[in-house]
Amino acid sequence: MEKIKCLIIGSGPAGYTAAIYAARANLMPVLYEGVLPGGQLTTTTDIENFPGYPTGISGTQMMEDLRNQALRFGTDIRFGVVTKVELKQNHNLVIVDGEKEIEAMVVIVSTGASAKYLGLPDEAKYAGMGVSACATCDGFFYRKKTVAVVGGGDTACEDALYLSGLCKKVHLLVRKDYLRASKVMQDRVMKQENIEVMFKHEVIGLYGENGVEGAMLLKNRGGEEEELSLPIDGLFLAIGHNPNSKLFSEYLHTDKEGYIKTEGATPITNVPGVFAAGDVADPRYRQAITAAASGCKAAMEAERYLVENDAK
Ligand code: NDP
Repeated sequence: MEKIKCLIIGSGPAGYTAAIYAARANLMPVLYEGVLPGGQLTTTTDIENFPGYPTGISGTQMMEDLRNQALRFGTDIRFGVVTKVELKQNHNLVIVDGEKEIEAMVVIVSTGASAKYLGLPDEAKYAGMGVSACATCDGFFYRKKTVAVVGGGDTACEDALYLSGLCKKVHLLVRKDYLRASKVMQDRVMKQENIEVMFKHEVIGLYGENGVEGAMLLKNRGGEEEELSLPIDGLFLAIGHNPNSKLFSEYLHTDKEGYIKTEGATPITNVPGVFAAGDVADPRYRQAITAAASGCKAAMEAERYLVENDAK
């Protein structure tokens, strides 16, 4: 079994920032990248609100830069997915890819969150055949076609705008009669000619012979419901995320939605020496900048913990 001081699980802005700080504090961190190296930002378009980039930066580029910065200070970045954990104070046992065993004195959990689905059987039926939760990954396949985006938040608006540059027509399906997105995103969506916002519409099913050819919708008209079909070639989900905390829920306290609970504004969890940073512990802000900040805090707490426990 490999014994290390500091293990970081996850490679989003929280994980990489934790790695930069931990490596500079000489904690010799090992970071496992997980299923999606670089995290959710690699599936987004341009990031316009991260301070320091006046003209914006692509999500992929930002993650590449963060990765290189973590490497520069000696972080041991590894491919691999953590498949099992046993969190016991100072002896946290972690299994990677079902076989490799690691014992870490401190663990920083920064496993992020994953896209939510509506839960319709048709989503599974048409997975990869017209249903996607990542517009920037799959939008290219729908060039000059008609698609629908489900959701009314910033992600849905961002996805609709991105797809409007590729597709003939984009329907934005919003279950309420308003958009939850920021004003600037709402304005952009409303101004885009080939985006049609359909308020009070919910998807109840999909149809098509060899892939999606349309969606069945439920329209709420003043309390009365009406079913209608909308011909589309693809359906994009943008209805929020679930925290990737299942692996840890036996040991770490979580809220009812599965977000890891931490002490106040700190990344300290209920297990001493285990810290949670980024979207896996943040149901409220979920921004790259806030994730990075919590990664910094987690590394600082990890260092403090090791010093206080005479382990550094
Ligand atoms: P949000 O939780 O903000 O929005 C989710 C949307 O999906 C809501 O409109 C919600 O509807 C809708 N929804 C949820 N479940 C269903 C369902 N079963 N059927 C139909 N609609 C559903 O998630 P986002 O991913 O959009 O954003 C998360 C955070 O990230 C936010 O803080 C956002 O500001 C931020 N963000 C910022 C960006 C930027 O600044 N560039 C880009 C992307 C995200 P309802 O309103 O009815 O609950």
